[in-house]
Amino acid sequence: MNVTMRNSPQDLIAFLKDRGIQRFYVVYDRDKQELRASHPELKFLVDFLRQDTRDYANHEGLFVQVSKKFSVLHGAFIHRTCRGQAAGGSRFWSYDTIEDFFRDGIRLSKGMTHKSALAGLWWGGGKGVIARDPKVDFKNPETRKQVFQEYGDFVTSLRGCYITAEDVGTVTEDIGNIFSRSRFVICIPEEVGGSGNPSAKTAEGVVRGMESALAAQSGSTLAGKTVAVQGLGNVGRFMVQFLFERGVKSVVASDISGDVVQQALKQFQGKAFEASVVEKGDHSVLFSAVDLVAPCATGGTLNEKTIPLLRTKIVCGAANNQLEDPDKDDRRLLERGILYVPDFLVNRMGIVYCANEQYGYVTQDPAIDQHMSDDWEFSIYRMTQKVIELSRKQNKPTGQAAIELAEQLSTSLHPIFGHRGQKIIDSLVKDVWQRKI
Ligand code: NAD
Repeated sequence: MNVTMRNSPQDLIAFLKDRGIQRFYVVYDRDKQELRASHPELKFLVDFLRQDTRDYANHEGLFVQVSKKFSVLHGAFIHRTCRGQAAGGSRFWSYDTIEDFFRDGIRLSKGMTHKSALAGLWWGGGKGVIARDPKVDFKNPETRKQVFQEYGDFVTSLRGCYITAEDVGTVTEDIGNIFSRSRFVICIPEEVGGSGNPSAKTAEGVVRGMESALAAQSGSTLAGKTVAVQGLGNVGRFMVQFLFERGVKSVVASDISGDVVQQALKQFQGKAFEASVVEKGDHSVLFSAVDLVAPCATGGTLNEKTIPLLRTKIVCGAANNQLEDPDKDDRRLLERGILYVPDFLVNRMGIVYCANEQYGYVTQDPAIDQHMSDDWEFSIYRMTQKVIELSRKQNKPTGQAAIELAEQLSTSLHPIFGHRGQKIIDSLVKDVWQRKI
């Protein structure tokens, strides 16, 4: 059989098995400035990447393996490693098409390059994507253990150019299973030296972003302001707490879970706090007439339909990928005079928290606290100011200004290891990684 990018990942597995291919890669050859695939049979993928101008950006390496045990594809997508090893969580998800699988990997790994660079971390950008068969039940703990241990072996085979972590569809236990087979993983369980749940710090970081945006926009603070929060989960609830601590006038919120709303109403009893239970597709809380709106539920909530309905001056929240169409929605917000604080700039504390786990912990950790400060150049407050300033000077939407700044920062070389990730990729190619299984 032949495949195109519109076929399913399961078709790709069958295609590869027919040809005796267990592993393959596509790397970017810097000298010849062209893409190189491990197998000529992958021409359809190389052609797709060459033509894609939206997400593909000469990623240093894309590595894929067919599971020996399950109908699962293991992927590691490495965007850029100038600042250090490519770090980013692994997503365990089912995809309709081969294109969806590759798009998620290349788009999200590039996003991690930007997030880490703006956070001043000495890490590059990467993403893991494990495409699972929608017909197989992966809830069984023994099955999951085997899937993630096998993924751990795959990550080990990449010799450290990619560092994995928790992401959508994975839980701490899965990361523990990866850790049993690989040292190239962060966000490991606390009982074996991991850094624990970062949600409170993520919320605090987003609140710092709000403070910075208010200072830049009107020279004001959160005191006396009104805020709408979508999603009262791990981050949303801490955020409401921090907002009241900073003297906001009122908070209006929504969640799709009745239990979550009840818990929040109990926690913030006596405060000017309103919360309602909504249907999944109900985004009406975002349209509240408030000073700030904080999307803290799911991605893609800011789009052609919702942006015209906003009645706020600032959008600043924790949810990843808030803009459904990053280019157009970024501009739509600018044209409506709404200050959008890019999610990847302010929700960094998840990766910051676990990025440097191997260096141990101190109480009141300065390596963590500097992200909350007013004076460190890479702090959330200062970076937000810088992005707003660039956006104003160049009359560009804030998302675009943040990406351009991140692109620039992401090419700085790691002070000790330089561009070692690229050297690792070169050695994997030289040592015929694809046949070492
Ligand atoms: P969570 O799953 O704990 O909370 C999300 C909440 O949103 C849930 O309570 C859910 O019921 C609710 N929700 C879903 N759809 C909704 C809708 N349409 N309207 C209202 N509520 C809805 O997740 P979290 O850890 O609080 O993270 C929130 C967002 O921030 C996510 O997008 C996550 O990817 C992102 N983020 C989180 C962290 C972190 O440290 N936890 C770090 C970076 C980014």
